[in-house]
Amino acid sequence: MKLVIAGNGVGSVTLIKELKKLNFDAKIDVFTDEKRPFYWRPRLIEVLANEATIKDITPYNEKWYDSHNVKLHLSDPIVELNINDKKARSKAGKIMSYDAFIFANGSKCFVLPIKGNDLENIYTLRDYDDVENIKKHYGHSTKIVVIGGGILGIEMAAALKQAGENEVSVVEFFPYLLPRQLDKQAATVLKKQLERSYGINFLLGKATAELGGEKKVEKISFSDKTSINADVVIFSVGVRSNTNVAKKSGIKVERGIVIDEHLKTNANGVYAVGDVAQYDNVVYGTVPPSVEQARALAGVLASQNRTYTGSIMSNMLKVAGINLLSTGKTNPDDGNFRFASQGDMSRGIYKKVILEKGRFVGSIAIGIKTQEALRMKKLVENGESIRSDILKYVELAELSEGGMI
Ligand SMILES: Cc1cc2nc3c(=O)[nH]c(=O)nc-3n(C[C@H](O)[C@H](O)[C@H](O)COP(=O)(O)OP(=O)(O)OC[C@H]3O[C@@H](n4cnc5c(N)ncnc54)[C@H](O)[C@@H]3O)c2cc1C
Repeated sequence: MKLVIAGNGVGSVTLIKELKKLNFDAKIDVFTDEKRPFYWRPRLIEVLANEATIKDITPYNEKWYDSHNVKLHLSDPIVELNINDKKARSKAGKIMSYDAFIFANGSKCFVLPIKGNDLENIYTLRDYDDVENIKKHYGHSTKIVVIGGGILGIEMAAALKQAGENEVSVVEFFPYLLPRQLDKQAATVLKKQLERSYGINFLLGKATAELGGEKKVEKISFSDKTSINADVVIFSVGVRSNTNVAKKSGIKVERGIVIDEHLKTNANGVYAVGDVAQYDNVVYGTVPPSVEQARALAGVLASQNRTYTGSIMSNMLKVAGINLLSTGKTNPDDGNFRFASQGDMSRGIYKKVILEKGRFVGSIAIGIKTQEALRMKKLVENGESIRSDILKYVELAELSEGGMI
C-alpha cells in the first residue's frame, strides 16, 4: 500500500510506529515544510529555558525512518491534492500517487488582527526556528510580553524567566489565568505561585488593542487606554488548523478537517489526525488526542475494524515547582453539575472534582502529589461513579447539590 503523509509531528510518527507494530506492509512518504526531522514539540519550552537542545528533543535519526520504510521529504510541504486522481503534489513539484493520504499537518499560531502586528520583534512559538529567533533577544534585560495567559503562554513566560535576565509579563484578556482549564479560585492560587516563584508580572482582564513602535515593537496599548512598554512580544492566543490544502482540494473543512469515527474525510482514501482534524465538532490541539487518533487510524488502515470515539481533554502545566493537572469539564456553567473543592492559598494547594449524574466529569489539582493528581484524572477518564471512599480525594464530608462547599 502507498501512504503519503503531510506533516511529521506526533500524529505522523505515532501512525508510522503503530503501522510497524501491526506489521502493516506499506511504502510511506512523509512530507514536511520543516527542515529537520521529528522533534518533541512540547519540549521546545525546555529549549527556550536553555534546559535542552534540539538534539535532546530529536528522538529519531535517518536509520529510524529507513527501518520504518519511510522516505522523509524535508522542507517540501504538500501544496495540492487531487482527490479524483488520488495524487498529491509537493512544493518541489513531486507528484505522488497514493492509496491513502493522511493530513497530519497540524496547526499554526493565531496572531491578533490588530494594528502594529507586523512590527519587528513580534513572534509566535510553534517550531524550533521560532525558539531560535526569540532567543536572539536574551541577555539584554529584555522586556518580553507574552499575550495570552493559557497553558502555553504561562509555560513560555516561566521558561523565559528561567533563561535569564528577561523581564516577563503575561497579558490575559479574561480576568483570570487558564480560563479554559481552571476556575477563578484555582487561577488565583496559580497566579500567586507564579509571581512568587518566577517573578512574572500579570496583566489580567486586558484587551490588547494595538502594538506601537517605529520599526520595532515598543509599546502595547489596551482597550482601557492603558499601555506598557515592550521590546519583544510573543502571541500565544491559540492555534488554527492548517486546512488550506484540504479546503482547496474540495475536502470538507470547518474549524478543522472534518473526520468520522474511522478518521476518514469525505474524500475516498483521505484521512486526518491531530491538530488539523475535527472530530464531533472538536479540534483538540493537544498531544494525547493526536496520539489516540493516529493509533486508531493505524488500526483502520490495517483493516482492524478500529474506531475513534473522541478524547477526554487533559492539561498539565509543565512549570518546575508547580504541579497543575486539569481534566475534562473543569468549569461547567449550568446547574446539572455538582462539584466539591478545597483550597489552601498559603500552601498553593487547590483540588476540585466535578460530577454529572453521579459520575466524575472533571478535576483540577494544583500543588498536590502527582500520584494523587493522576488518580483524580483517572476518575474522570474512566467516568467512574461516586463512591463514599472517593471523598477522601477532596477531604470533604459531603457534596452539596449544584454548588461549592
Ligand atoms: C511550544 C509548544 C508546547 C506545547 N506543549 C504541549 C503540551 O505540553 N501538551 C500537549 O498535549 N500539547 C502541547 N502542545 C501542542 C502539541 O504540540 C500539538 O497538539 C501536537 O504537536 C499536534 O501534533 P500534530 O502531529 O497534529 O501536528 P504538529 O506537531 O503541528 O506537526 C505538523 C507538522 O506538519 C507541518 N506542515 C504544515 N503544513 C504542511 C503541509 N502542507 N505539508 C507538509 N507538512 C506540513 C508543520 O510544519 C508541522 O511540522 C504544544 C505546542 C507548542 C508549540
